[in-house]
Amino acid sequence: MTRLVYERVHDHLQRLKLATVDEVLDNALNTANAGDKSFLDLLDELLSEEIRVRRQASIATRTRLSAMPTRKSLDDFDYAFQPSIDKRVVEELRTLRFVHHAENVVLLGPPGVGKTHIALGLGHEAIQAGFQVYHTNMSTLIQRLKAAQRRDAFEAKLRVYVKPRLLILDEMGYQSVDREGSSLFFELVTRRYEKGSTIFTSNKSFGEWGELFGDAVVASALLDRILHHATVINIKGDSYRMKSRRRTGSPVQNPLTRTEEVNAKG
Ligand code: ADP
Ligand code: MG
Repeated sequence: MTRLVYERVHDHLQRLKLATVDEVLDNALNTANAGDKSFLDLLDELLSEEIRVRRQASIATRTRLSAMPTRKSLDDFDYAFQPSIDKRVVEELRTLRFVHHAENVVLLGPPGVGKTHIALGLGHEAIQAGFQVYHTNMSTLIQRLKAAQRRDAFEAKLRVYVKPRLLILDEMGYQSVDREGSSLFFELVTRRYEKGSTIFTSNKSFGEWGELFGDAVVASALLDRILHHATVINIKGDSYRMKSRRRTGSPVQNPLTRTEEVNAKG
């Protein structure tokens, strides 16, 4: 290859935005010259590398934009510790059929039983599969929607939560929602209905949602839409945090954590 051709190839690769091929070309040419690699094999190798790097970059970007607080994998979930969870149901969700069909998932149970772990694990899988995912806590969501409403920017803010194919709405129930919050939340649920999937996690049973939203009628209208196409996983069991504390043998002193223990056993 003459220097002219070599430079033209690099120039073309840059214009075509094949940055990875551009970067690995020299190495690939060296190994190709040394061995007896066919032209087709070399081309395949270069293009596969370009695709691999782009996919990694896209996953990294979508992970960052998802605002998921930590990385949790369903592979690390200990089903033996939480026998009330049917592994087959989680494995079915893992196929992401529910995302394709814009169906919901509701994870109910006391603190520490793995609701957030499963939600984030599914979020991680959805990102790997190419979906856009967004995570938020209920209290943050309500606060942001209200603030946007006051700035006359409700529609724009709502789109942030409507657009992702999978929304993870964590920690419903730790704070009750007032009338204004309920009505903004209702708007969100209505807009996502049959259009995008939402994973809800809550420490409150459905019967307590009336109290949570301060209005039984609103709660039942919400549940009607949320549960129309949904998989509900009701987790009954001990907090996993207690397990690790028991293992390390450190005493439970924090009164807040003691409450959690009582809840988890109740
Ligand atoms: P929740 O959202 O139900 O309050 P989390 O999902 O935050 O509980 O779980 C608390 C901690 O325990 C997290 O670090 C989580 O990864 C871990 N955990 C919970 N259940 C399990 C489990 N069955 N197997 C492995 N880790 C678990
Ligand atoms: Mg949680």
